[in-house]
Amino acid sequence: MQSSEQATFYIKTRRSFTPVRTYAWILTVLIGIGGQFVPHLGLLVPIIMVALMGTSLFKGKYWCGNFCPHGSFFDNLIGPASRHTKIPAFLRSKPVIAAVLIFFMFNLGRRFIDVYATLGTGEFLERLGLVFATTYLMVLLVGGLLGLVINERTWCQFCPMGTIQILFYKLGKAVGLAKNSDEKVTVSHPDLCHSCGKCARVCPMQLSPYLQFSEDHQQFDDETCIRCNTCVHNCPAGILQMAKPQEAEEIKERVSLEGFDRAHYYRARIKEITSLKDDVRQFGFEMLEPARMPYEPGQFVLVEVESEIKMYRAYTISGSNEDNSEIRITVKKLPDGYGTNLIFNNFREGDTLNLKGPMGNELRVDPSGSELLFIANGIGITPFVSTVQSFFERNEYPFEGKATLLYGARYEEGLVYDDYFEKVAENSEDFNYYKILSRPRTGRYAKGYVTDILKDLKPSPGTRVYICGTAVMASGAAEILTAKGIPAENIYYESFI
Ligand SMILES: Cc1cc2nc3c(=O)[nH]c(=O)nc-3n(C[C@H](O)[C@H](O)[C@H](O)COP(=O)(O)OP(=O)(O)OC[C@H]3O[C@@H](n4cnc5c(N)ncnc54)[C@H](O)[C@@H]3O)c2cc1C
Ligand code: SF4
Ligand code: SF4
Repeated sequence: MQSSEQATFYIKTRRSFTPVRTYAWILTVLIGIGGQFVPHLGLLVPIIMVALMGTSLFKGKYWCGNFCPHGSFFDNLIGPASRHTKIPAFLRSKPVIAAVLIFFMFNLGRRFIDVYATLGTGEFLERLGLVFATTYLMVLLVGGLLGLVINERTWCQFCPMGTIQILFYKLGKAVGLAKNSDEKVTVSHPDLCHSCGKCARVCPMQLSPYLQFSEDHQQFDDETCIRCNTCVHNCPAGILQMAKPQEAEEIKERVSLEGFDRAHYYRARIKEITSLKDDVRQFGFEMLEPARMPYEPGQFVLVEVESEIKMYRAYTISGSNEDNSEIRITVKKLPDGYGTNLIFNNFREGDTLNLKGPMGNELRVDPSGSELLFIANGIGITPFVSTVQSFFERNEYPFEGKATLLYGARYEEGLVYDDYFEKVAENSEDFNYYKILSRPRTGRYAKGYVTDILKDLKPSPGTRVYICGTAVMASGAAEILTAKGIPAENIYYESFI
């Protein structure tokens, strides 16, 4: 499959999660520019250097991602205007990193010798400060320019201070100083990973944690990681965290794999592509090896969208044939979506590709109660298509109660599978279907949100509620349900919008 030309791989995202990271850049400007007029300001630099070297003995390049004033400058001021392209491999190569370090040390050493000649005079500290302030200004200008043209953290690939930190980190590890303080990106369990690559797409250092977790601790050991937490904040599966090696063990033992323990890789053929709306397509996959994918409604499957870099996207299984030798997914195209552009542009009937599944726990419906309530908006309807198929069309579950589906969309064309649900509701006394549009174009539909319908319902306290849609809708619905006496443990929610 070809690469997407419409969507960019690297995503611009917020990286300042603490006040220090938001405002540390002021120090860069103060020292780099202010130091040209007040050279004594440059004397802050050796303090910064000692601090970063000390930190790196215990925590690797933690300083770069959390305290560095230049890093803050690149993230906050350069990032928004950066072209945000791939950093050329040679800029991260060992010869370039070594050459920049040697040049930096040589240059600084030469200027120190000049300044040393003034030792004992009133000029000494001023001239020393100017050496540091000028070095700071040089990094601001060169790093800033590289940041604008390539990627905001391009300078950080070969920054001499970063290289020194890695050397000190190696020392810290060798003598055991880093043992109890070294927090690294840690995955709760690799089986929970969607291989969506988002951690790689947001990483300012353009690293790929999801492809390189160590097998023993499930940690990302790359010494160039600046521990900035961006991947942790952006992982859609919420499975990343910063942890020390000893904590990683506990995380691994604590995590539940329920709903993920039967997942396998499958080879599949795209059997049928059906256009449901302008931006929504249904893809039918025929399983080749293994020949069947048994799943429970509400579960999802990972679909390979790019084989060279092992990138998948998660899609809810929206239906299947009776023996599960064919499954369906329903995909809504996002205008700038990397994966959906690949799917819509490149997937053809007859193509073969890899799938991984079935996965997911949250929306697997427990049929034991007497009342079920499904609430969806937008493309969040997909889990309920396979659920309604299994519960009311095929009677595959021993459910003897009543179920209600509330479905909201913005416009008429946003209602996917509307005819299907209408038909099932017509044929089954136990299934009720209500829909609503927030901006109807015609007078045929009620105007409002699913939460408006919910306000008028009287669910019994034992009702189990399954919600899939936007976070705003879900939290609004949960609030109403709680007020109606539904306990929180009976409300299940998954979001992918
Ligand atoms: C369990 C689960 C089930 C799912 N089921 C379905 C389903 O049934 N149907 C369905 O259609 N989807 C489903 N999804 C969502 C699906 O996995 C994808 O996330 C979705 O298709 C978008 O993928 P994409 O690669 O096109 O978008 P991406 O490129 O990953 O973009 C996703 C979002 O990231 C942001 N973004 C992207 N590029 C940039 C940029 N350059 N700068 C700033 N921000 C950017 C945007 O907010 C964008 O909306 C599901 C997800 C999960 C986790
Ligand atoms: S891997 Fe994560 S923590 Fe490390 S630099 Fe990349 S985004 Fe930051
Ligand atoms: S961002 Fe995606 S690929 Fe990375 S760890 Fe999370 S789920 Fe896995």
